[in-house]
Amino acid sequence: MKAYRLFEWKQPARLVDIPVPEPGPGQVRIKVAGNGICASDLHLMHEWESSPPHLHIELPMTIGHEVGGYLDKPGPGVTGLEPGQAVVVTLSGCGHCYYCARGWNNYCLNKGAQVGMGLDGGLAEYAVAPVGALVPVPSMDPAEAAPFTDAGLSSFHAVKRIAPFLTGGSTVAVIGVGGLGHLAVQELKAITPAKVIAYDLNEASLELAKEVGADEALKSEETNMEKMSMDAVLDFVGAGATIAQAAKMIRPVGHIVVIGRGAGVFEFKHNAMPYGAMLSTTFGGTKAELMELIGLAESGYIKPHITKFKLDEVEKAYEMLERGEIQGRGVIIP
Ligand SMILES: [Zn+2]
Ligand SMILES: [Zn+2]
Repeated sequence: MKAYRLFEWKQPARLVDIPVPEPGPGQVRIKVAGNGICASDLHLMHEWESSPPHLHIELPMTIGHEVGGYLDKPGPGVTGLEPGQAVVVTLSGCGHCYYCARGWNNYCLNKGAQVGMGLDGGLAEYAVAPVGALVPVPSMDPAEAAPFTDAGLSSFHAVKRIAPFLTGGSTVAVIGVGGLGHLAVQELKAITPAKVIAYDLNEASLELAKEVGADEALKSEETNMEKMSMDAVLDFVGAGATIAQAAKMIRPVGHIVVIGRGAGVFEFKHNAMPYGAMLSTTFGGTKAELMELIGLAESGYIKPHITKFKLDEVEKAYEMLERGEIQGRGVIIP
């Protein structure tokens, strides 16, 4: 089968032919329907010089961590699944730590290698995943549901953190309307009564924000942040400038969630934010949240904006992603 694999750190990944993988105990083989491409793949391929210790990446490895497809073959001891059933692959936790017990598998203390980040990923015709990482997709095309596993879930987890505090009359700022932000706008509209204002520097992204239901879409640089009084701010960029922008916009006791991994630095001290305002980062989302999100999508509340590419076009797709030319999320169809 064809697979897009990284052979050496800081060297380009290559599309190569490898044998179809066999699922081991506790694993299943999936016939990949689609795999979403993510900015963290660019970091993995272009910037990392070795594996982050918790991911245990050994090269070569097939790239791709937003996988949707059909159950093809269960490994030894795996029962209770329908062959051909549509699924997506989410983060797997250890199942026995405090965080897993609370359902926060995304914050698992013993999180090891993940599909596409340590285990071979979904930019291939077939992928193998731990059975515990599967989430059923009852009626959607699993290729279209694939971006929900990361872009959708990371944004939905942030939305779920602020949703209990939002009432009629609340306003939420979404900074950065890319693969994650365009879903956050829809998720906020689907489960909260808040007014949503989207900010971006890019005209096309602001158009997309309006298309997917933002009440207002504004150019970041043309807005006087100091006059704002946001109940919550979701920062999908995470640069120093956007966190500073969020701190200026937030009201007392408001919530800022930084999802973007722009590695921005913010000096936290008295008067850096209004009193009582909270600032947190997140990683991914829970399995239960992914099930809820797929339910919202299947009920028509959320539509991922997807640009499809063939597996042969994977290099071009990553180049476009790097140049910021993909609106919404790019999905590779093997
Ligand atoms: Zn990702
Ligand atoms: Zn755990």
